[in-house]
Amino acid sequence: MVKPLQRRMARICAVALISALTIAVVSCERRPGEPVSRSEMWLGTVTSVVIHDSRFPSDVLDRVFHRVEEIQWRMTINEPDSEVSLVNAAAGENPVRVSPDTFEVIEMSIEYARRTNGAFDPTIGPLVKLWNIGSADERIPTESEIEDVLPRIDYTLIELNRDTFEVYLPVPGMVLDLGGIAKGYAVDEAARILLDAGIQHALVDFGGDVYTIGTRPDGNRWRIGIQDPVNTARGRFVGIVEQTGRSVVSSGDYERFFVEDGVRYHHILDPDTGHPTRNGLVSVTIQAPAAMTSDAVSTGAFVMGLEAGMALVESLPDTEGVFVTDDKEVHLSSGLDGSFRLVEAGGFRLQE
Ligand code: ADP
Ligand code: MG
Repeated sequence: MVKPLQRRMARICAVALISALTIAVVSCERRPGEPVSRSEMWLGTVTSVVIHDSRFPSDVLDRVFHRVEEIQWRMTINEPDSEVSLVNAAAGENPVRVSPDTFEVIEMSIEYARRTNGAFDPTIGPLVKLWNIGSADERIPTESEIEDVLPRIDYTLIELNRDTFEVYLPVPGMVLDLGGIAKGYAVDEAARILLDAGIQHALVDFGGDVYTIGTRPDGNRWRIGIQDPVNTARGRFVGIVEQTGRSVVSSGDYERFFVEDGVRYHHILDPDTGHPTRNGLVSVTIQAPAAMTSDAVSTGAFVMGLEAGMALVESLPDTEGVFVTDDKEVHLSSGLDGSFRLVEAGGFRLQE
């Protein structure tokens, strides 16, 4: 009974070994429990995939990282000839045709801007540039500089043509910045490639934007630590969420910031005030079927604040949230019961 299977395995391995001449990662008949992982720098962060299946197509990790690279080159604003940069360069002049990829992410970013009442706004670019948080040129801009850019931050102005995949920013100086959503899209695409390849147990983690495929190899749910936003040493958690087959993403004021006169200026900006948000929240974690949703909603809800942000989460199907305040209160959305565990050591308090 066993033999034919072994012969078939031997054949599969032979094929895999031939392709090993050209492909870096080959796996066949590894011992169970021995995961295969790869990490690369993309999208301004460490992107990593860990596969726990014992057999899978040998080129799947190559395909994942090629796709991530493609998404980066299309959507980054740090390269002058990415599709998004070309759209930005043509603001006030002409529409620019983009790939269906970029078009979809822009379309979804507008959808999330609507749902968050503009708290998430993909036209935040001019403000991001003004503050430059996380770069060597970060600084507090003057109020008049802020007043000057605010009229250009308005997602309702973006013009999309679904037939031609053209995107037009009608006001000179408008700047699209997909930094609050593109990483989530890349995570979803990575997960899709892994799932299409039949993979049943894997973890995608792009700088904290996580997708859990299936269960852990032992059949239990994945356990994902939510970063302690107050004591930000890596590996210190507010709590643990347990999940299978979905995404989880955090936004917080601890990721990129500088401090001046005791005030923390961080990278999530309020499109209404033009300043980094200051509403008592220090982190928002969203769990949802798609990482693009989790990414955009975590950023948007962080700007909206506890009450409005939580109301948004409760209104979205199959979407849950963990909101942490600066006085260490932890607020959970109604569907998280049983899949969140507080880490006692951090001094956080669960609010009923
Ligand atoms: P991270 O990049 O740390 O994972 P987020 O997903 O919350 O965090 O995205 C923050 C990025 O999103 C910022 O660096 C900026 O590019 C962009 N951004 C900042 N404020 C907003 C906003 N109000 N709406 C949409 N995007 C924003
Ligand atoms: Mg985000």
